[in-house]
Amino acid sequence: MASETETFAFQAEINQLLSLIINTFYSNKEIFLRELISNASDALDKIRFESLTDKSKLDAQPELFIHIIPDKATNTLTLIDSGIGMTKSDLVNNLGTIARSGTKDFMEALAAGADVSMIGQFGVGFYSAYLVAERVVVTSKHNDDEQYVWESQAGGSFTVTRDTTGEPLGRGTKITLYLKDDQLEYLEERRLKDLVKKHSEFISYPISLWTEKTTEKEISDDEDEDEKKDTEEGKVEEIDEEKEEKEKKKKKIKEVSHEWNLINKQKPIWMRKPEEITKDEYAAFYKSLTNDWEEHLAVKHFSVEGQLEFKAVLFDTRK
Ligand code: ADP
Repeated sequence: MASETETFAFQAEINQLLSLIINTFYSNKEIFLRELISNASDALDKIRFESLTDKSKLDAQPELFIHIIPDKATNTLTLIDSGIGMTKSDLVNNLGTIARSGTKDFMEALAAGADVSMIGQFGVGFYSAYLVAERVVVTSKHNDDEQYVWESQAGGSFTVTRDTTGEPLGRGTKITLYLKDDQLEYLEERRLKDLVKKHSEFISYPISLWTEKTTEKEISDDEDEDEKKDTEEGKVEEIDEEKEEKEKKKKKIKEVSHEWNLINKQKPIWMRKPEEITKDEYAAFYKSLTNDWEEHLAVKHFSVEGQLEFKAVLFDTRK
């Protein structure tokens, strides 16, 4: 039986925010990726925290990861996380019907000249997806509910449908962005890798990019023999030309395959050995954590072993 699709109206302020995001010119659109990765990381933190007291919460998907899949055939960019996921009511409430106080504050800040990159600080980072996408589809599976699909092209409303046909996520969230025609740069491997390095350096979960690999492969001798026979009845000159061409072709057969490519190879800074970390690395981490323009004054990096084990980095800012 096909599942029913329910349509919901965006709350008025969220609607205004979406119009603003879609219709205003912002050059700094790339920050959408940081916002979606940050949401994925938060969702992973939540399930990891729950699993500390109940291991079975990870059963549906034991791995904690973030996957990024660019697809040039459909002009879509997809992010998948195995975080806590969203129930149907989470999808309805968190992505459209209940506005945070930050929604209005952010619009006021924008009007007063704030940069769109500040969106995350106002708690509405998800909507930055519409800086680059004309349509967004969110598929999510929470341990307490079935898998649901949220979908919207903005324009005042979104739909939520029980997902009976899509690939089961186990647990987590998949966000597919149908990119606007002028935003296809976000399908390029190089661009995505650089963006993750630039904005999501300190995410402590593995982020993997689905990459295309082209390998050259020579065709087998048998195939070559068959081709020669085919040409035997033709004119001598032609045979030579064709043969040459075939030889060339032979070398140019390319095979396209895909593989996951881990793009944040660096371990989180607190897990590394203090003697291997430079002052600049501590400073970059401090700045990314705090949004402070200035560097920290002092740093203490240590580990404690005993009944409880942990590693820590303490910053002193003396402000
Ligand atoms: P913020 O993340 O600052 O709270 P957002 O607008 O980015 O604000 O997201 C709104 C809410 O939607 C989040 O608080 C979270 O509950 C939910 N959400 C967004 N993305 C995800 C995700 N990948 N997994 C689970 N929940 C998510």
